[in-house]
Amino acid sequence: MSQITTPRELKAAFPYMFARPIDPWAFSFARGWFPIIVRACNAIDALVRDDKYQHRFHWVQTKEKFGTLRLYWHARGMKGARVDLVTPTDVRSAVPVPEGKGRDGLVATQIWRIVRAAEEESAHTCIVCGAAGILRRGEWFLTLCDEHAQKRRAKDLEIWFCSEHPDGGPS
Ligand SMILES: [Zn+2]
Repeated sequence: MSQITTPRELKAAFPYMFARPIDPWAFSFARGWFPIIVRACNAIDALVRDDKYQHRFHWVQTKEKFGTLRLYWHARGMKGARVDLVTPTDVRSAVPVPEGKGRDGLVATQIWRIVRAAEEESAHTCIVCGAAGILRRGEWFLTLCDEHAQKRRAKDLEIWFCSEHPDGGPS
């Protein structure tokens, strides 16, 4: 597979994953985390592609929340809501393991692991550049490397693939 470097290429590679956004702004892609999302899509596709309906897997939302990557998804065999606990220094997120039964439940649990690993990776990956970063508290939480933590003070961060554009921009 050729290298996927833009949201447009990602959606073209896995159209079924992005076919059902909850709203026009459901999918946002931070530059530093984009490789994490691409890897997650590839891993999930390997799990579901042999199923006629791909286990009905699709992303509901991809976004940043409380400084880290949040991937909301749906698939057959998946049920459960997440809970966020915000403390003065960090955010803990509880996401129950899917409870579905049989083959669908097994696939959903594997997807759940891939998604959790991606979200956890984002917690130590700079949202701007993808270098090693830590969760930093400013006006809001953001995971940043040292360099971009400096630039944040100058409000000079280019985080998003064309954030205003619901399609991920013209890139
Ligand atoms: Zn950085």
